[in-house]
Amino acid sequence: MQITRRDLGRFALATAAGSALSPAQEHKLGFCIVGLGRISMQHFMPALQMSTKARLVALVSGHRDKAAKEAQKYGVPASNIYSYDNYDRIADNKEIEAVYIALPNSMHAEYSIRAARAGKHVLSEKPMATSVRDSEEMIAACRKANRKLMIAYRCQFEPLNLRAIRMIRDGKLGKIQAIESANGFDIKPNEWRLDGKLAGGGPLMDVGIYSLNACRYLTGEEPGQIKADASVIDHDGRFNEVEENLSWTMKFPSGIVASCNTTYGCSMPGFYRVHGNKGMIHMEPAFSYQGIRLTAKIDGEPPIDDASPDKDPVQFLREADHMADCVRENREPKPNGEEGLKDMKIMMEIYKSCGRR
Ligand code: NAD
Repeated sequence: MQITRRDLGRFALATAAGSALSPAQEHKLGFCIVGLGRISMQHFMPALQMSTKARLVALVSGHRDKAAKEAQKYGVPASNIYSYDNYDRIADNKEIEAVYIALPNSMHAEYSIRAARAGKHVLSEKPMATSVRDSEEMIAACRKANRKLMIAYRCQFEPLNLRAIRMIRDGKLGKIQAIESANGFDIKPNEWRLDGKLAGGGPLMDVGIYSLNACRYLTGEEPGQIKADASVIDHDGRFNEVEENLSWTMKFPSGIVASCNTTYGCSMPGFYRVHGNKGMIHMEPAFSYQGIRLTAKIDGEPPIDDASPDKDPVQFLREADHMADCVRENREPKPNGEEGLKDMKIMMEIYKSCGRR
């Protein structure tokens, strides 16, 4: 970690003012969490506690009591708790350098854009938004404010997923012929994920996006031809606004065809299989918070069977640390707004292809 003269100066001022922050603490990127739901409370906030590069400094919530409890747990002063109504006042809080947007999908754009206007860097959960237009507006707002925009694609930092990419690029599998992938779960009723306006779509937007993003990072190509079919099997009221099942194929310029499935109708553990003419990779689970496992058979080599030792929330720690590095070193985040926009455009093509747009 690099501590600058500016950090030392700030420390001297803070000490004079009675603040106890050390230069190392001061150097950590100050995150404000927007939305206190499962992903932020169970994963991202615990990850910040482990980080040497980022720290939790503020919370935004519609539930003051819940926010006060979390604030106490993480040592966030009550003055750094905001509501959705006074959110824009984060502009006046110098401790807040970045926001982590963990709201229902359709709210990502508004709260990211308002954060950029308040001078804050943005780490938005996936999917970055629910339309191409909103995604483009998020990119434009962050660019105009000269702030970073990162999309929380945690698997892009996960070591076994990175190893699979390396094996493919190094030609270990020979010519890739096909990819299969799936990801889904059996959704409970009364979730915002089933509300068309808030979610923007069904399992594709929520978990199918992992298969889509993986096919792109595994091939290193952008799909051309897309074909899709959607269906509802359970007419129990859950799927009045979003699809229950979606299956799609993507043909990449090299000729690789990826076939993917996603569902909200049953448990469908996230996996992918990459088939080449010299071997194959099977990643399962491929997208979970821990326990990622890679098995591979390569012609003429001993079989590979490796499980990740990472425990949750390490994937979120990597993400937060990457954001902090990008801000401190003025680098573009690896999964930036353009990366999120590419997935958004493809998801819209998928929906068009199955008549859901
Ligand atoms: P959640 O329902 O647990 O939390 C959503 C939060 O938004 C809650 O605190 C809720 O109070 C708040 N909220 C504000 N306005 C709301 C409204 N009008 N309706 C409903 N909630 C409202 O959801 P979650 O599972 O934490 O998902 C949040 C985001 O994180 C989603 O975009 C999701 O796709 C993403 N996510 C990412 C991962 C990952 O591994 N990266 C995993 C799960 C979810």
